[in-house]
Amino acid sequence: MLNFLKQVGDYAKESFQAAKYIGQGLSVTFDHMQRRPVTVQYPYEKVIPSERYRGRIHFEFDKCISCEVCVRVCPINLPVVDWEFNKAQKKKQLKHYSIDFGVCIFCGNCVEYCPTNCLSMTEEYELSAYDRHELNYDNVALGRLPANIKDDPMVTPMREFAYLPKGVISPHDLPAGARRAGRRPEELLEELEAELAASEATAETK
Ligand code: SF4
Ligand code: SF4
Repeated sequence: MLNFLKQVGDYAKESFQAAKYIGQGLSVTFDHMQRRPVTVQYPYEKVIPSERYRGRIHFEFDKCISCEVCVRVCPINLPVVDWEFNKAQKKKQLKHYSIDFGVCIFCGNCVEYCPTNCLSMTEEYELSAYDRHELNYDNVALGRLPANIKDDPMVTPMREFAYLPKGVISPHDLPAGARRAGRRPEELLEELEAELAASEATAETK
């Protein structure tokens, strides 16, 4: 009997949770029904990607130690690390490095695990090419810094949708100089530094 009651209780709990999740999903749908379409007139207007956007990978040749960790953690073993052993220095010497962005899934594993932080993900998302072989970036192409949308005088940068202030639906409606939603990375950094300083001060007084 107790077992039966427990089963009924579990069933009721799961049904309630399912109804809650359906309600949450529908609330997003209804929210979108009130919005109007927003068209970004690319390439004259471009959306600024968010800070953690995973775009084209940047590579710093001088920092690479040819450890091949990036190859091992890559789900498709994609980065090509071409090195030779330097007998005089008794260490590996990098000759070439390449990543094929026609195959890369931009998961960021290589960036996450690289021990020398010589890989980083940039905000560059315009990688189209007529020939797929052009997407195979060598260390020179990977070493190029990404172009900043805001520096291009021919382009109107559009604020990324997640950072629009409350009530603003289109970046076109934004008054000039309006502050973005949420805190800026430098503000978060300041806050973290203040917290760290406060915790160090309390540790010293103990
Ligand atoms: S993990 Fe980093 S240091 Fe190691 S080979 Fe890859 S890019 Fe170079
Ligand atoms: S981003 Fe992911 S798929 Fe692309 S090279 Fe790095 S680990 Fe491989």
